[in-house]
Amino acid sequence: MSVYDEFINNISPQEWEYFAEDVLAYIGFIILEGPASGQDGGKDLIVQKDNDIFIVSCKHYSKDIGTSIENNIVDRIMEHNANGFIGFYSTYITESFKNRLQGISQQYKIITYNRMNIAQIIPDLSSTITQKYGRKPSGNSYVLNTDEDDYRPLNCLKCGKDILMPIFIRESMAMLHKDENDIYHYLYGCKECINSLSEEGWVEIYQALHSEQLISWNNMVDEDTKGKKVSNSFYRNKSEFDSKIAQRMFPRNMGTWI
Ligand SMILES: [Zn+2]
Repeated sequence: MSVYDEFINNISPQEWEYFAEDVLAYIGFIILEGPASGQDGGKDLIVQKDNDIFIVSCKHYSKDIGTSIENNIVDRIMEHNANGFIGFYSTYITESFKNRLQGISQQYKIITYNRMNIAQIIPDLSSTITQKYGRKPSGNSYVLNTDEDDYRPLNCLKCGKDILMPIFIRESMAMLHKDENDIYHYLYGCKECINSLSEEGWVEIYQALHSEQLISWNNMVDEDTKGKKVSNSFYRNKSEFDSKIAQRMFPRNMGTWI
């Protein structure tokens, strides 16, 4: 058994979805819906790459995944207006399930990750990710650098939800938006709330929790808005973001965003 087998075995079935989210984000998928949001409806996550939207099914079972475990895949894809399916499995898939998937792949994008694929990715993951699963009983943990009493939420500018709550971090972003009058706006919030606006640049909240990423984001914002017209709320929003995100910044020795 390799160290990676051991690592995978130590992840609980509950954590497996969060681990899948971390791995897929690392590979370059945009997480549209994380494990924590809403009813399952036959999917654990919804992710996007380029123009394709995938439902993700995560299974951390002791036996191989077959057609009796994974069924109605096409219905589930359609139900979520997706055009692809990702199976993220800690074991392997059976021959009959593979044949089933090959049939579906004529019409839909199908990707599966098995134990071997995942074991190959683990050495590349940042320690920020691997530390979450090696030691702690539950995934999705973020640091809090202040006392609970002093904590101040960073509310989505549209719906007011606190985007620094651990379950919303993955689903939130900050963005530089230029409106039709060429005025720049500094915005932050749930992806769902602000994603549809045209952006000149953006950063995921999860990225911005790493100091080197926050620095390069701020440099980019400075660069892009130099000599340009900005909205009345621009600097207020920016300083609000910078001061509040500091409450959850990872300490520098906890690994870097890759
Ligand atoms: Zn929102």
